[in-house]
Amino acid sequence: MQTLRASKCGLSTAQLPSSILDVIDALTKAGYEAYIVGGGVRDLILGLNPKDFDAVTNATPAQVKEVFGRRCRIIGRRFELAHVYAGRELIEVATFRAPPKKAVTSASGMILRDNNWGTIEQDFARRDFSINAMYYQPRKGIVLDFCHAIDDIKNKTLRLLGDPTLRFEEDPVRMLRTLRFAAKLNFSIAPEILEIFTPEMTQLLRDISPHRLYDESQKLFTMGHLNRVLPMLIDFDIWRQLFADISPDISTFIERAAINTDQRIQIGKTINPAFFYAVLLWKPFLERCNFYLSKGVVPAEARAQAGLDVLKRQATRTIIPRFAETFIREVWEMQTRLLNPKPQQIQALSTHARFRAGFDFLLLREKSGDDTTQGMGVWWDAYQQMTTDEKERAISQYNRQRAKSRRKTATEDVVETKLVAVEIEPLVNEPEPRSRRERKSRAKPERPVQSASSNRSEIGYDHPILKRKRVKRDLSQVVFGPTQ
Ligand code: ATP
Ligand code: MG
Repeated sequence: MQTLRASKCGLSTAQLPSSILDVIDALTKAGYEAYIVGGGVRDLILGLNPKDFDAVTNATPAQVKEVFGRRCRIIGRRFELAHVYAGRELIEVATFRAPPKKAVTSASGMILRDNNWGTIEQDFARRDFSINAMYYQPRKGIVLDFCHAIDDIKNKTLRLLGDPTLRFEEDPVRMLRTLRFAAKLNFSIAPEILEIFTPEMTQLLRDISPHRLYDESQKLFTMGHLNRVLPMLIDFDIWRQLFADISPDISTFIERAAINTDQRIQIGKTINPAFFYAVLLWKPFLERCNFYLSKGVVPAEARAQAGLDVLKRQATRTIIPRFAETFIREVWEMQTRLLNPKPQQIQALSTHARFRAGFDFLLLREKSGDDTTQGMGVWWDAYQQMTTDEKERAISQYNRQRAKSRRKTATEDVVETKLVAVEIEPLVNEPEPRSRRERKSRAKPERPVQSASSNRSEIGYDHPILKRKRVKRDLSQVVFGPTQ
């Protein structure tokens, strides 16, 4: 172990928010050891802006709770941690961990529970990469480096601590972390990792819960280097483990969306990770729509059912929370509405809560060479920049063109182009709560789960989707009918 001077590593307390210093100081005052560890130290040494700061201590979670009282909450079962609220920020305080006892690992060596407290040396050996295992005591101005991690930082190398095979077996998510850090930091992966990072090894990810894989996929999407990590996911055969029915091929659309996401993060704009899921799943969604259409299902129903099918299949890999599912289906449904809007509803559409995401999606499709958008991406782009008068003229002109292309009679097409508030029909119907749906599907096992990418599953004349009655609507209330 070497003790480095913090200043020599480019570290100073001036770079630290008061929240993490408060936590370190309070634990030290109570007689415990406390360090900053992980990504915060790594990123500061690299001159990057850390996402957050994590603390580690020899106090147990219960003792941390004693120090901070109501400002502290103990969380997690598999990996127990203390959450300390410092001002408006939340600091994760972990306790030094020793190797897990045999009884809490699975047959394949995966760690099921990791709450065996230990010393700092043991804690160090439990961390994933050398560069994530530097312990910084800001008040003493020192960094404890147990494995020449500082050299790996200088050489831009990602090195797992211990035997790489064992470390991946203990926690297969470390494979995803390897690619994430390699892409984020632009580090090379150490040869001993590359040697064992095989497609067979990635099969271990099958044992990871879809919830955890969703969390990890969010981190991949939002780290700011999505475009760099996507080809790596394919090269290392991780793609297949994360995405059920998306062929491992980066289309122009996916690539543009990834570049766009990274750019937004760079300039500090917010991003919704569900948007990228909507992009990834767009092709399987269209394929599934076509499948239903070819079976005679009406378009609106085909889209609704295809959306549900595709998301259900994806949930076998990464569970997608209900709010994100709804967002994705709404973005898809917006594509139909934006492509062929009724003139009198254009203004209302442009103020709809899902307009922005739907429009961004449409424009991305168009810029990626998708000519099925019929130039409507550019049309909506221009529309948003117009004055009220210009908008009315643009709608009239759109209306005339629409009438011409539909060869309708002039009388049918006279519409009021004045910009008035018009209500919009909900984009998607919320599916039933998951638990009820699960209960229902268990009661009806004869309904097969259908693959979104293949046409193998047949819809017979007696399939429930064909029997479903078309919803009878009061036509005066219908603002956006399905595009047929
Ligand atoms: P970032 O926060 O920038 O994504 P990080 O390195 O801080 O990166 P976290 O997930 O916040 O990553 O974890 C904090 C630290 O906990 C890591 O630096 C590492 O030392 C340890 N750690 C996290 N996940 C694992 C894991 N699966 N196996 C071993 N150690 C881990
Ligand atoms: Mg972190």
